[in-house]
Amino acid sequence: GVGLIQSDKAVESVCPYCGVGCQLTYKIKENRILYVEGRDGPANHGRLCVKGRYGFDYVHHPHRLTKPLIRRQEAPPKSADLVMDPANPYTVFREASWEEALEFAAAGLKKIRGEKGPKALAGFGSAKGSNEEAYLFQKLVRTGFGSNNVDHCTRLCHASSVAALLECIGSGAVSNPVADVGQAQVVILIGANPTVNHPVGATWIKNAIKRGTRLIVMDPRRSELVRHATYFLQFKPGTDVALLNALMHTIIEEGWVNPSFIAERTEAFEEMKRHLQVYSPEAMAPVCGIPAQTLREVARLYATSKGSMILWGMGISQHTYGTDNARCLISLALMTGQIGRRGTGLHPLRGQNNVQGASDAGLIPMVFPDYQRVDNVEAQAKFEALWDSSLDAQPGLTVVEVMEAITAGKLHGMYIEGENPAMSDPDAHHAREALAKLEHLVVQDIFLTETAYLADVILPASAYPEKTGTFTNTDRWVQLGRQAINPPGEARQDLWIIQEMARRLGLEWNYSGPATVFAEMRRAMPSIAGITWERLERESAVVYPCRQEGDPGEPVVFIDNFPTSSGRGKFVPADILPPDERPDKEYPWVLITGRQLEHWHTGSMTRRAAVLDAIEPEAVASLHPLDLEELGVKPGGWVTLASRRGQVTLEARADDAVPRHAVFMAFCYYEAAANLLSNPALDPVAKIPEFKYCAIKVSAGGQA
Ligand code: SF4
Repeated sequence: GVGLIQSDKAVESVCPYCGVGCQLTYKIKENRILYVEGRDGPANHGRLCVKGRYGFDYVHHPHRLTKPLIRRQEAPPKSADLVMDPANPYTVFREASWEEALEFAAAGLKKIRGEKGPKALAGFGSAKGSNEEAYLFQKLVRTGFGSNNVDHCTRLCHASSVAALLECIGSGAVSNPVADVGQAQVVILIGANPTVNHPVGATWIKNAIKRGTRLIVMDPRRSELVRHATYFLQFKPGTDVALLNALMHTIIEEGWVNPSFIAERTEAFEEMKRHLQVYSPEAMAPVCGIPAQTLREVARLYATSKGSMILWGMGISQHTYGTDNARCLISLALMTGQIGRRGTGLHPLRGQNNVQGASDAGLIPMVFPDYQRVDNVEAQAKFEALWDSSLDAQPGLTVVEVMEAITAGKLHGMYIEGENPAMSDPDAHHAREALAKLEHLVVQDIFLTETAYLADVILPASAYPEKTGTFTNTDRWVQLGRQAINPPGEARQDLWIIQEMARRLGLEWNYSGPATVFAEMRRAMPSIAGITWERLERESAVVYPCRQEGDPGEPVVFIDNFPTSSGRGKFVPADILPPDERPDKEYPWVLITGRQLEHWHTGSMTRRAAVLDAIEPEAVASLHPLDLEELGVKPGGWVTLASRRGQVTLEARADDAVPRHAVFMAFCYYEAAANLLSNPALDPVAKIPEFKYCAIKVSAGGQA
């Protein structure tokens, strides 16, 4: 008969994928993960989605980097036109000892720092790494490179949400956990597809609906949760502000505002009221494509319920007016007082398992840990004392600005830990050209990613189950991920690699492990000052704010006031701005990029997980069936998409959830990279690119 292989070890950890932060247990035998089980964490209570349950075997994939690699002198010149073979790096790279690789990596950066100054260098850390790794990485850039040129993929994700939240209510994190939907009467879900991107979070929404919560979905693309919604507002792409201003206009006009909340807890309402006068539902209906009557009904439902909550995703944030979109959502909550209680509030759904934590830890060019601005004299003095180093007071460059600085000949060296800008940046060909132009590129990763292929030296790092550290989920729970297996071959833990790099850049660090780094973080970050490592080991998860030891932590915040200088929330009006690149005669279609259930971000992990890869093995472009018919393409046939920046050919999938004359593409497929097409135009405030809208043309056929 068939015998079940018994595990000999069980290690409690956290899912490495999305921001929901499900707790899980790795079942191990002889340094291999056999399977994964859900465990009773605050965000999942035993539940896992397909990624968390089946997406673990990437760690054992034969493509894992197991030795440091240095680019061969005789290697072909670096080129944006990648012809990459992740199974065989040896045509381009040679193996090196750790000593040689680290010396080489640091020497190249030091040379540039010496010859061209600190601002000729930049570092990208990762939202896939732990809080401790993020903290040390930004400290290395700030004290070792000598500038604030440090960023990570939050820039591509919720930078605009965070900018608006900090501006309006003084804190960039969520006000309430996802599971609060169970206590809300009404939930607005806008620009988010949790069934795909936050699957366990979506199950809480469905459970709530079964118990009577009413769901309002607002999205240009229909998602699975629409089946459970009371209202589905399929508005025209790029008209979020028109829609949201019309809702607010109605709430004021009909007297559904919360006057005492506005009087006691907010400021600048009168300006907002004046601003909204011209945004009647009747005036906005033709703009956003939603009937005025529906806008009025939805406004009433949200404003007058006992508890209404707003959750949003990249459909709000990834626009050149992403900050404006988020400002509108915040104003909606403020004028109705739908914040500061259970079952209300604002929740930007975080994408990566640690994008909240990496941002909190200071992996952002404008702020030190805990969002203390680099140009604030007091904050600067505090960190200069804590780190015993002089610090630059000028905010650094953001992700896309770094690529522009390389192209302009101002930035020459980079250290990239666990990020893949060659895939994730908009206008990827341009980003690859910039990376290829660098005089010295150090990449620290677990696979030969599209970015690593352009490196001068590659430092083989550890995968998620191979290290211990803390990770902060979308609900602000700081959770302990415990090491379950050892890294393969000579791959080393990221915390060790960062410290070795720091030492060679002249920094005298001596952290014995993640616990000592976390102890320093508690001194730097008031929000987590009360969380002890021992408590994390005991409880696995502690929610912040937790300012003093023994504090239970606060799952719901803003109960009495907002952490702004006045203690009040501020209304910031937004006008309708068009997307940067609108369809025209030559490029008459709209491209929407995003993710799909089985694959995560640039796909470097999930496409190497056997089950996930088997379910979604190939790049597809989703189009409305009537559009396919017009093009004369059958589902499964080829289509070629072209923008002003690039062209890809891939299979077509019929999907009537996609609006007419629009195409949806996931950005995880290197063989048909969506970001070869996307537009690098930035939101002026948050510097987030417009991944959710650019103009393309579509033709039948083509050579894949
Ligand atoms: Fe992992 Fe997110 Fe799925 Fe939970 S919902 S198992 S955190 S990918």
